[in-house]
Amino acid sequence: MVRVRFAPSPTGYLHLGNARTALFNYIYARHTGGKLILRIEDTDRERSKKEYEDLLIDDLKWLGIEWDEGPDIGGDYGPYRQSERTDIYNQYVEKLKESGHIYKCFCSPEELEEERKKALSEGRPPRYSGKCRNLTEDQIKKLESEGKPYVWRFRVPDGEFIIFEDVIKGTVEINVDEFGDFVIVRSDGSPVYNFVVVVDDALMKITDVIRGEDHLSNTPKQILIYRALGFEEPRFAHLPIILGEDRSKLSKRHGAVSVRAFRDDGYVSEAMFNGLSLLGWHPKGDNEVLSKEEIIREFDIKDIHNAPAVFDRAKLRWLNGVYIREKIDLDDLTERAVPFFEGFGYKADFDYYRKVMEAIRDSLETLMDIEQRAKPFFVDDFHYEEDAQQFLKDETGYRVVQLFYEKVKDMDEIKKEDFKRITKEIQKELGVKGKNLFMPIRVALTGVTSGVDMAVLVEVIGVERVKHRLQRALE
Ligand code: GLU
Repeated sequence: MVRVRFAPSPTGYLHLGNARTALFNYIYARHTGGKLILRIEDTDRERSKKEYEDLLIDDLKWLGIEWDEGPDIGGDYGPYRQSERTDIYNQYVEKLKESGHIYKCFCSPEELEEERKKALSEGRPPRYSGKCRNLTEDQIKKLESEGKPYVWRFRVPDGEFIIFEDVIKGTVEINVDEFGDFVIVRSDGSPVYNFVVVVDDALMKITDVIRGEDHLSNTPKQILIYRALGFEEPRFAHLPIILGEDRSKLSKRHGAVSVRAFRDDGYVSEAMFNGLSLLGWHPKGDNEVLSKEEIIREFDIKDIHNAPAVFDRAKLRWLNGVYIREKIDLDDLTERAVPFFEGFGYKADFDYYRKVMEAIRDSLETLMDIEQRAKPFFVDDFHYEEDAQQFLKDETGYRVVQLFYEKVKDMDEIKKEDFKRITKEIQKELGVKGKNLFMPIRVALTGVTSGVDMAVLVEVIGVERVKHRLQRALE
């Protein structure tokens, strides 16, 4: 059975790159009937925070990603937080000591820096020289008695080539001489990422490691550790890098990159899910608007492109609009919109919000657009925009509004049909039509020259507020 994992470090908000990694792992697990494991990689004590873990979990859930094992729900292969697995790691460090795969290195940071500089100046790739590789027992004892700190390094076999089949990249071949003996345990006794990730993936029975391309250079080191510990190697799939539209690596410079920022900016989760799935993958047909279920059905990991994915912000916005306008049920959409209404200071009950959403959803691209689009439904003492004022100053315009007021002033209720009837009457009585008829009314009721359907607006805000606004315009 396929077992995949998403292994974020809780050092910040979930960004698009990691969200895409989580998403592909999830889709792949569901497509194959396998399991997704959430593992929190919080070994960096200083930068890891429980708040970030909570936020990550919240954002993942919001996106619609569900996992089968994880720190919040447990599972057979826990604990699922690396900070709780220290004993396990120590056990496997012991194994590497016993088998002689790692050795103590007493080189100081200054010495290593010296070496690095020298290599660079001679045009060689900087890598550890292997100076401490063959220290004798006596030399080690002496250095220890002097209290010199040491790290444990992995003894990388000279000149070996690590070759593996990456599901996305194809055959990857790396000469281990490129990196040389690398650190497994730091001088403070803590094991490094490359080591713990292998122990975890192996013990958690991960079959496929799907992660960002930025980890590709770690993979040969990890393969060496798998071999040294006698673990079976998983399949690897490295997802293409994500670029901004200027073709540089996607970063904050390109604008919002965290899932939370998009959420706060009024993006709906379905559009984010769909949009993220298109970063490196494409459905077979032309239709890119696909539900989670459709994506899971169609997805094949082999179809992920081996070329950078460009994040198209405008397209995501467009996609979001499609979901808002066409895909989400009105009640559900209204529920999601409530915090936005409230945030803009538009107070009403659910039923009223629902009516407003019904009236404006076709004009929204994000839920942030509610601020502008819903304004006529909430604000009575609005300002008349400059280009709108002329329609009230205009003699005919004024008469249109006046007559409109005459016709509604004794009404207790106003429906869409009433609006249509009244405007027809005015048309006949004053002989005005089109823009000359509708603009003055629109401006009197909203202060602007475009926006929501007036017949809908009057019905939703009700006749008393209509009267109030007309009177105000006539003053
Ligand atoms: N904790 C790593 C990261 O956030 C994940 C490493 C991996 O997937 O192997 O980049």
